[in-house]
Amino acid sequence: MPGLEDLYREIILDHYRSPRNRGELDTPPASRTEGFNPLCGDEIVIYLILDDPSKGDQAIVTDVKIGGQGCSISQSSASMMSVTVLGKTIEEVHQLTQAFKSMMSIHEHDIGGDGSEAEAGVGAVSGVENPSDAVSLGDLEALRGVVKFPVRIKCATLGWNTLNQALDDLLNSSV
Ligand code: ZN
Repeated sequence: MPGLEDLYREIILDHYRSPRNRGELDTPPASRTEGFNPLCGDEIVIYLILDDPSKGDQAIVTDVKIGGQGCSISQSSASMMSVTVLGKTIEEVHQLTQAFKSMMSIHEHDIGGDGSEAEAGVGAVSGVENPSDAVSLGDLEALRGVVKFPVRIKCATLGWNTLNQALDDLLNSSV
């Protein structure tokens, strides 16, 4: 019977080999934002369209396309992210970002462990709220194992940082 780690590896490789929402959008109306992770040489380009940026946090991601190149972690994370954020409001995207980053950082304290403690600790994160309880990360859960390799965390979060940069740019330019 395959273990959870094998399942996670399958999901990551599937997104790497068949990236979702891969491509480009016309700019404008789409915004184009680039992100780089010099540690690994990863590059992510995000094309993003909101239904109405003047709605602020309630604006909806109506289209997103991902370009760029890099390692399997960076590219699969961006692919999963694109699926997850499509059709969501900016507020929800921010919640997902928080949840994803908290999943990444929780485990930073467990480096060197076998992961079992980390799994048990997920529901008991210290802090005001536990964002990962409020939202479902879906396939993104597969990246949980990345935290055992701290140098790869920047690979996994590159797409999210680039997306949030894109959202900031869109909201600011609409004012
Ligand atoms: Zn990388």
